[in-house]
Amino acid sequence: MRFTFSIEKSTLCNHIIFNQSTKGGNFTEYEYIVVGSGAGGATIARELSKKGENVLVVEAGKYERKIGTFKDSLRYFETTGYKTPRTSKEGIILWRTIMAGGSTVVSCANGTRCLQEEFKDFGINLEKEFQEAEKEMKIAPTPESLLSEASLRIKEASEELGYIMEPMPKFLDFTKCARCGSCTFGCLQGAKWTALDYLNEAIANGANVIYETKVEQIISKNGNARGIRGKGKNGYVEIKGDNIILAAGALSTPIILQNSGISEAGKNLFIDILVNVYGKAKGLNQVSEPLMALVDHEFHEEKGFILSPHINANKTVRFMEAGMKGFMMPTNKLVGIMVKTADDASGRVYPDGTVSKAMTKDDWKRVNDGSSIAKEILENIGAEPKSILVSKPQGAHVGGVAAIGNVVDENLETKIRNLYVCDASVLPKAPGLPPILTIVALAKWLGKALI
Ligand SMILES: Cc1cc2nc3c(=O)[nH]c(=O)nc-3n(C[C@H](O)[C@H](O)[C@H](O)COP(=O)(O)OP(=O)(O)OC[C@H]3O[C@@H](n4cnc5c(N)ncnc54)[C@H](O)[C@@H]3O)c2cc1C
Repeated sequence: MRFTFSIEKSTLCNHIIFNQSTKGGNFTEYEYIVVGSGAGGATIARELSKKGENVLVVEAGKYERKIGTFKDSLRYFETTGYKTPRTSKEGIILWRTIMAGGSTVVSCANGTRCLQEEFKDFGINLEKEFQEAEKEMKIAPTPESLLSEASLRIKEASEELGYIMEPMPKFLDFTKCARCGSCTFGCLQGAKWTALDYLNEAIANGANVIYETKVEQIISKNGNARGIRGKGKNGYVEIKGDNIILAAGALSTPIILQNSGISEAGKNLFIDILVNVYGKAKGLNQVSEPLMALVDHEFHEEKGFILSPHINANKTVRFMEAGMKGFMMPTNKLVGIMVKTADDASGRVYPDGTVSKAMTKDDWKRVNDGSSIAKEILENIGAEPKSILVSKPQGAHVGGVAAIGNVVDENLETKIRNLYVCDASVLPKAPGLPPILTIVALAKWLGKALI
């Protein structure tokens, strides 16, 4: 028996009611159920709904109305019961949000292509989709006028030392940016592209969305996906669909896959391990600028790291990442550079949701090599050598746990037919670069391939 769930929605579907109904004696169902509304999910929902397909998005988080402060961010960042960030068993901080729009809402708006050649090896040419996404997201280099005095000095000092610090390409409306430095709490000005832009378009195209519903398992019959099971606000939910697209992010998608009999999922987790290198410099700070306004890519290929000016201006966040010493750093004299690395895909997401991710010897080498250069630059702009502090390792680009060629095929389909994965889980290796643009391009590609 096939079911139709007609959904009544209030503004932006925060409230939904299921009505089981029939059409002309035949039971119909959703053509596409998309799980998650972040970079991958919102994009594919928009692509499919644009073509008139019957789409339902099932999202674990809320559509947050108020974003932009540290206090707000505690509602949507995944934390422990003590409001400390989630970590791997080995203590590496894992940053992600559970909310409509996913982690794109708290991104730094960095938009660079990555893994284009690697996808070509699987017969997926993303060139057109990259171009489309870059245009829609209005990606452009950060203008110098938005840089803090400290970042201007970092640029100059890098040049003097022979490094290449360039403007970061961003999906940010620079005319709206208030240089508040709070990008990672969500943009108060609405200056940043987020997946909510695409989700709202999908809704306008006719897609339905259910919020606060956590998908746990795929319903399948004779090797075909038939629907999803999960828990909503009002209890247990089962929804039927012809095609299921998992886009719940790399810490959730593998759990759903494993619960559905795809035991290979969850291995090879990467997180693009990063550290923030801080220093205290008289008369300088990086408080007023978009985060990560510059980038040095020159070591990416050979040494596996990039460098980008970045501070966490919020003392509590610094306490989370660098303990009491981080907390005590004076924000009005704080300068910093993030070292972001393409780490070994050595982690694992288990069916109970726990994550194992440790630093390997090579991970430490990339982090230490990058930190040495970051220190050199910071000292060159006047940071006191004794004040230099390196944060704990952390990661905000989780992926790789249902990698293409391993858990999904070149159509991004799993061994359960009509069950696809379209989020950072399918990335074949750690990019060591911002992945949103690539995930968006890939979801656009899948949208075209499916119809
Ligand atoms: C602080 C921070 C800053 C970042 N800055 C940048 C940046 O500047 N540029 C960049 O390219 N990348 C950045 N990233 C990384 C980027 O946000 C992610 O790589 C990207 O959003 C991953 O896309 P995704 O579709 O895999 O997952 P997400 O975008 O996280 O979407 C997953 C969605 O699934 C939902 N969900 C989770 N579990 C379930 C479930 N069981 N059932 C239903 N729904 C579920 C989540 O609520 C979420 O909406 C940043 C990340 C963080 C945390």
